Amino acid sequence: MKTLTIALQKDGQLISTSFELIEAVKALGGELLTAVLAEDAKSLAEQLASRGGGKVLAVSDSALKYYNDDNYVKVISALIAKHSPDLVLGPATFYGKALFARLAGKNGGKMVSDINGITAADGQVVMTRLSYGGSVVSEVVKNGDGTFFATLRPKIYPESKDGAGEVVEETVDASALEAKMTVMEMKVESSGAVNLSEADVIVSAGRGIKGPEHLPLVQDLADSLKGALGASRAIVDAGWIAYSNQVGQTGKTVNPKLYLAVGISGAIQHLVGMRTSHTIVAINKDKDAPIFNIANYGIVGDAFEIVPALTNKFKKELQG
Ligand SMILES: Cc1cc2nc3c(=O)[nH]c(=O)nc-3n(C[C@H](O)[C@H](O)[C@H](O)COP(=O)(O)OP(=O)(O)OC[C@H]3O[C@@H](n4cnc5c(N)ncnc54)[C@H](O)[C@@H]3O)c2cc1C
Repeated sequence: MKTLTIALQKDGQLISTSFELIEAVKALGGELLTAVLAEDAKSLAEQLASRGGGKVLAVSDSALKYYNDDNYVKVISALIAKHSPDLVLGPATFYGKALFARLAGKNGGKMVSDINGITAADGQVVMTRLSYGGSVVSEVVKNGDGTFFATLRPKIYPESKDGAGEVVEETVDASALEAKMTVMEMKVESSGAVNLSEADVIVSAGRGIKGPEHLPLVQDLADSLKGALGASRAIVDAGWIAYSNQVGQTGKTVNPKLYLAVGISGAIQHLVGMRTSHTIVAINKDKDAPIFNIANYGIVGDAFEIVPALTNKFKKELQG
């Protein structure tokens, strides 16, 4: 069994899921390769190698500075052709999803997206994923020949901290570096928002906060926990906050260590986007709100009293 994980970088820094992929594959056994593409991939490859990335294939070129569907698919396809992995595993992040749909399409089409577990049993690789809004766990078995592709949801596995590795600098055919589109620059959204898909802590606001003028209350709570601000669709549709903050069926699927829902009723379309969070805390003045059915901790009360009290407490306790 030979597995290739794809480590993605943003602004020249490896995203944390890159190390989670390595940890997930450690338990499978077999040979591990990791690929990293960047303007200067060598130092990133060294980090991956020192944290158990196995044979780390580093491809450096200025055309690879930013994620670009065209280049990334061609370069990684060339690495696949050269190294013939049985399984290629990548992050189920915004760019990971775009990349893997194309990669699988170009390389045989066998793929499962959004897995939340991977094991080896009786010589088979078994991957699990949630479907029907999280109420069904499906098992997907890799069988037959050819390369199989899978994307793993962030924050399921811990980051690999150590292990064996070596860096191999790869060169690819110049045609792989030509693209129909060139990314000239990337700018962080002016809100400076933490990436929801990767956040360890998310505090989300719903219609219970009454109006956009009260969003800073919830933002303060998120800041006190160094977390990201999420939202229900109701307040996105109302124009109180940007769509990029929306959690749920038609927004982002998140999996933080802590999810705090403020004034959110818990409609199924919201729950499917956050129900796998490790710990869920809900603040709602209605004791029968459905969000309490999945919350680990529930606070029945007025968000306008509870949120500032929590923020003060966290600021004192966590920030000294
Ligand atoms: C096809 C489809 C896709 C959808 N996709 C999504 C999605 O991706 N994400 C999503 O979130 N929704 C989605 N929805 C909408 C979803 O069905 C709900 O309408 C929405 O989640 C409700 O948002 P809410 O909980 O903020 O508002 P509400 O349902 O209005 O709930 C507000 C809550 O605030 C509480 N509250 C009121 N005042 C206070 C107070 N002072 N203190 C504390 N609590 C208070 C109330 O008790 C209530 O429970 C989708 C719907 C459809 C049909």
